[in-house]
Amino acid sequence: MTIEQAETDVLVVGAGIAGLSAALSADRAGADVTLVTKAERPEDASTWWAQGGIAVARDDPATFREDIVAASDDTAEATAVEVLVEDANDAVQDVLVDTLDVAFDTNGAGYDYGQEAAHDEARILHVNAETGKHVHVPFLNHIADETDVRLVEDTAALELLGHEGRVYGAVLERDGEWAPTFAGATVLATGGIGALYPRSTNPESATGDGVAMAALAGADTADMEYVQFHPTAYDPAPPERSAGDTGDEGTFLVSEAVRGEGALLRNADGERFMPDYHEDAELAPRDVVARAVREERETTGVVTLDVSSLAFAEAFPDLAAKCDSHGVDWTEGIPIAPAQHFLCGGVAVDDHGRASLDRLYAVGECSRTGVHGANRLASTSLLEGLVWGRRAGRDAAGRSPERVEAPELLDRDPDLPPAFAGEKFHRLRRVMDEQVGIERTPQGLARAQSVLRRLKGEVDAYIRTRTSRSLYELRAASVVALLVARAAAENDQSAGCHHLVEA
Ligand SMILES: Cc1cc2nc3c(=O)[nH]c(=O)nc-3n(C[C@H](O)[C@H](O)[C@H](O)COP(=O)(O)OP(=O)(O)OC[C@H]3O[C@@H](n4cnc5c(N)ncnc54)[C@H](O)[C@@H]3O)c2cc1C
Repeated sequence: MTIEQAETDVLVVGAGIAGLSAALSADRAGADVTLVTKAERPEDASTWWAQGGIAVARDDPATFREDIVAASDDTAEATAVEVLVEDANDAVQDVLVDTLDVAFDTNGAGYDYGQEAAHDEARILHVNAETGKHVHVPFLNHIADETDVRLVEDTAALELLGHEGRVYGAVLERDGEWAPTFAGATVLATGGIGALYPRSTNPESATGDGVAMAALAGADTADMEYVQFHPTAYDPAPPERSAGDTGDEGTFLVSEAVRGEGALLRNADGERFMPDYHEDAELAPRDVVARAVREERETTGVVTLDVSSLAFAEAFPDLAAKCDSHGVDWTEGIPIAPAQHFLCGGVAVDDHGRASLDRLYAVGECSRTGVHGANRLASTSLLEGLVWGRRAGRDAAGRSPERVEAPELLDRDPDLPPAFAGEKFHRLRRVMDEQVGIERTPQGLARAQSVLRRLKGEVDAYIRTRTSRSLYELRAASVVALLVARAAAENDQSAGCHHLVEA
């Protein structure tokens, strides 16, 4: 299918929960909406992979608020938290229950609310431990079949059309061809940055495109140093594997809900260690558990999640099946290690997802709303995407597209060495893992910036003469990696996911 120059009132880039929510609400507000995603299948969005579920306020918003702020190391922004908590019940009821008919698990007394680390009460709606796909697939189907939104798959936004502080749409690429789409408002919903790290729970396509496009167009970013690592991702590799190796196809997340049900972390000597690190032991905030797991792995060799005290196969049938398919005998404990999981920062936005450039919005994981501060509370990310998507979509509607001069992109170059992106990504991931990971030192961050600056320079030199999606993804990754390393170097206070240690 060829790509042509087009116009739309609202251009949404990315079809995870945040982009879908923005598209739905702009459509409801009467806008002509185009939703593009570079994904070819639902699994190419983190939303599909979400396990634990989506938190709601139930009838105790005050405690929900307190839990979010406590998990963030007291750095979450009060006004943003208020928005999330105030909108939570209504957004979930309106979109997920009334519109999409998501059948959240119930028990005899109503919804079977789950409880996860750092939540003071059971407030998480879920479908088994694979909530994401039960939300994402019906949402995609609803947008495609029940709304006027134009959903265009396998189509990547490469660059924003920016002029004098305003955004007019984006250059889109499909099948190696590209053309501008002019929009009255542009909503970025491109998800996370897992591709910047050798071990991540995110899909491979999480290259940080939206953050990079916004930053290159001149929009503000914030809190980029706060990269969250999930403490319990299945570790398919021997622990002695060198940092910087890529290719973690075998890894998968073992949800916090498993620890919520009583699973325990043990080191290579079989000792339970979390009570030595935090009074909440296995249910301590993610950053605390991730650092403890890392330390125990380093000192004793292996860390396993002991699920022997729970009816694992009955409570988490999909996880048990995943273990089986990876040849893991979970009755002996599941070998785990931390993996990059979530970016708390991103494109700086207000309570309606408005970025610092006119007519540009960002929602979901690529945005920085202030809700997470330095560390995200489990199961609040789907909610943030849903809530901010709804608000941004409504706000973005009502403007007509205008045309501006589109940048000249250069011809596709068939001579791009196939290994070019692979080699650069390898270097980038290695330095992010070694210097900009769970623990950081000022010296390491300085070194990382100099490596990343050089790498970005090499990629920029290629971009000046060639156009291809993989090259733009690599550029996005190099821009975002530098933003993360720079933000980390500029912040001399350890908080949440940003943890400084002595060299
Ligand atoms: C394994 C796992 C488990 C999780 N469990 C939970 C949980 O239980 N509860 C919870 O709240 N959160 C959970 N999270 C986090 C949560 O899933 C994500 O933060 C959230 O889904 C992000 O939604 P999003 O819409 O912002 O991005 P995504 O769902 O990642 O969607 C991004 C979309 O943007 C598209 N895209 C990217 N770049 C471009 C481009 N240049 N052009 C066009 N399209 C582009 C992608 O193809 C994709 O469609 C989990 C995450 C993972 C990975």
